[in-house]
Amino acid sequence: EKKLTDIKEILRKEDESKPAVFIPVDRLPEIQEARLRLPILAEEQVIMEAVRENECVVLCGETGSGKTTQVPQFLYEAGYASSVGIIGVTEPRRVAAISMSQRVAKEMNLSTGVVSYQIRFEGNVTKDTKIKFMTDGVLLKEIQRDFLLQKYSVIIIDEAHERSVYTDILIGLLSRIAPLRNRRGLPMKLIIMSATLRVEDFTENQRLFRTPPPVIKVETRQFPVTVHFNKRTPMEDYTGETFHKICKIHRMLPAGGILVFLTGQAEVHSVCRRLRKAFPYRPNREHTGETQISKTSRRATKKNVCLPKISLDNYSALPVDEGDEDCQAGIDEDDGEGSDLELELGDHPDNDAEEKSDPSIPLYVLPLYSLLAPEQQAKVFRPPPAGARLCVVATNVAETSLTIPGIKYVVDCGRVKKRFYDRVTGVSSFKVTWISQASANQRAGRAGRTEAGHCYRLYSSAVFGDFSLFSEAEITRRPVDDLVLQMKDLNIEKVVNFPFPTPPSGETLISAEQLLISLGALEEPPRRGRLNEMERARLSCPITPLGRAMAAFPVSPRYAKMLALGRQQGCMPYIITIVSAMTVREIFEEYDRPAGSEEESSRLAGKKARSFQMRRLWAGQGQSLLLGDLMVLLGAVGACEFAGCSQQFCEGNGLRYKAILEIRRLRGQLTNTVNSVCADAGVFVDQKMAPPTDGQVVYLRQIVLAGLGDHLARRVQNEDLLDPKWRNGYKTPLLDEPVFIHPSSALHKTLPEFVVYQEIVETTKMYMRGVCGVQPEWIPKLLPQYCHFSAPEQSPAPWYCPQTGRIKCQQQSTFFRVGWKLPAVEL
Ligand code: ADP
Ligand code: MG
Repeated sequence: EKKLTDIKEILRKEDESKPAVFIPVDRLPEIQEARLRLPILAEEQVIMEAVRENECVVLCGETGSGKTTQVPQFLYEAGYASSVGIIGVTEPRRVAAISMSQRVAKEMNLSTGVVSYQIRFEGNVTKDTKIKFMTDGVLLKEIQRDFLLQKYSVIIIDEAHERSVYTDILIGLLSRIAPLRNRRGLPMKLIIMSATLRVEDFTENQRLFRTPPPVIKVETRQFPVTVHFNKRTPMEDYTGETFHKICKIHRMLPAGGILVFLTGQAEVHSVCRRLRKAFPYRPNREHTGETQISKTSRRATKKNVCLPKISLDNYSALPVDEGDEDCQAGIDEDDGEGSDLELELGDHPDNDAEEKSDPSIPLYVLPLYSLLAPEQQAKVFRPPPAGARLCVVATNVAETSLTIPGIKYVVDCGRVKKRFYDRVTGVSSFKVTWISQASANQRAGRAGRTEAGHCYRLYSSAVFGDFSLFSEAEITRRPVDDLVLQMKDLNIEKVVNFPFPTPPSGETLISAEQLLISLGALEEPPRRGRLNEMERARLSCPITPLGRAMAAFPVSPRYAKMLALGRQQGCMPYIITIVSAMTVREIFEEYDRPAGSEEESSRLAGKKARSFQMRRLWAGQGQSLLLGDLMVLLGAVGACEFAGCSQQFCEGNGLRYKAILEIRRLRGQLTNTVNSVCADAGVFVDQKMAPPTDGQVVYLRQIVLAGLGDHLARRVQNEDLLDPKWRNGYKTPLLDEPVFIHPSSALHKTLPEFVVYQEIVETTKMYMRGVCGVQPEWIPKLLPQYCHFSAPEQSPAPWYCPQTGRIKCQQQSTFFRVGWKLPAVEL
């Protein structure tokens, strides 16, 4: 009898767990065939059963196993995108959100109105959308609007191994949202997908999930990859070494694609250019302006006259990808020109290679990095021209986000470019560092997808042994003020108690809270006096009305504060423009890239001179000049709008066209947000703004000061008495070393006594970028929390003491409702 009830129970369970509906998908035969080759297809049942029976499931599988493209389809077919909700997929990178939505739409033979994407500025979501790919930041904003995420029946967190900050936060939040939904009878599933097996931070974290979620591993048909270490490790010219290695592989080894890992866009460019020069295959060489071509190259050219020419010319106008770390210039490369094809063949591992290979096979060289335009990026997925060897020169986007077909050889420089922040000072710098062992193995794995492969590591095995085992989570390496504000807006007051997969340090949380308090976004702590770190970390300062208004803006708190103050004297459109331009990275074209020929070099120099001339013009004179680099941004955007925002205008004046278009979109979006936060704000986007009046410029400078108050610097006094290294230097509260106005700044020669800056970036020196001049008498009025007031009656000294542990904010919390005004200032 017992058995019978058991069976009944099983049947009942089965019945319950059956999908409500089965939605057929009408795939093209060739797509279906390719799908069936993916290892994940064999696991469909296991995965779907686990999803049915658990609130949260963790799915691990090698890059290319089919997680991103197939799991949403499994869920769709099982009826998860029915009337109860849609399927949401988050990606840490914008390129992945766009390209994966397109790929899945294509595989399912559905329109992009059904399988859609949403990134910060754009998307193609419709009311018919069933599968929505989005960046993790987009979902976080949606949680603010609807904490239960009622429109989703499933959320897939993709690329969780990358440990991007937003992914981590989302996992923390969703670990609470899913049970809440289930309790309310609105079941929601959570699927965490990772390309590595290291998922303990999610599964074995008691604070996240009380019962550890099941982990499903997708076995991949991985072919053996032979790893070749270098005998020595090049410390300096590793791009040169990379180039040599590619040449060797191409000339000596049998057919098969080459995937190269470098650290940044500039390196990718440089190696691509050298390779194209060494192995050209352009049909009309007279148009290319190239002069020296090696013997090998000439042969290659002759034989393959019909191959398409790949344009490298539109690098100037690429979309900006936030969260992407590979676009900073400033890492110098030793880029000797590629006349160096005489290679020793001695140490090569594949000794019978020469017979098999034909050096005249053309090399089809493609760059790949996050900022590359999507249509350029899509090229890597297409087969190379017949008879040519594919060579993709990539940054670490190719490590896990995108799978490139047909790769047999991997060349790994062993490095990655990362942004580092100083925890105390917030100074950021881009540094090239060694990758982790896990990353190195991921990279090597790219070579064994279709057949046995080889991975050439440009470092020794001893160096590899010193790599850290895994890369650290991003949240432990960057300031978290934006996150803390978003969390407070979600009414998570005790941020220290939040179930972070990896919690940021107490120090980082404290400095984020302090910044938010001083911006007026959080209430002042109830207790006073010296608190020790732990006590302070436990403080739970609630959000103020100003903080809520700030949290509504999709920009970091300092900029949000400026927007919150922008509603006076008609300044809002200017502030919106300035903030938009500061948020979009690199609106100016970089002309310091290595040139291929003398002609190109002089062309670049000419363009650079013109760009600097325009910047001086946009900065203007008098008041306007004191707004500094922010005036340059305003002037550039303004001028561009008057010129009809044409690509030609941008290129002629050193502006990145794509950045300008993005600023345009962000201006529209921020204007809508301002109008929705405050119904009577009545700001409208006037694409063609008149330049601000002198009076407005004064207000703009004050608003900027109020937002960037903790980024104040004062020019050193009596510099003759100091060490010469202080010449033209500035002193900031937290740094002992001088900081300087960046040579590209509008205020580089003016050197106002007090300035605020957007950021300090350390290259050869510590440089302030985005500099704006401020008047000393504004500081005590606008930033009393940073000031020492000697005696109430005396006029306050225009200097501030950052060391004071006491932070006071009196007037900020009345934004919009009462209309907080800045103190009037005489011109
Ligand atoms: P994972 O997410 O596990 O890394 P994907 O789902 O991204 O794997 O990829 C599965 C397979 O689909 C890959 O092996 C790749 O060959 C193929 N693929 C993915 N994107 C594209 C694309 N845009 N064009 C052609 N093939 C693609
Ligand atoms: Mg994937």
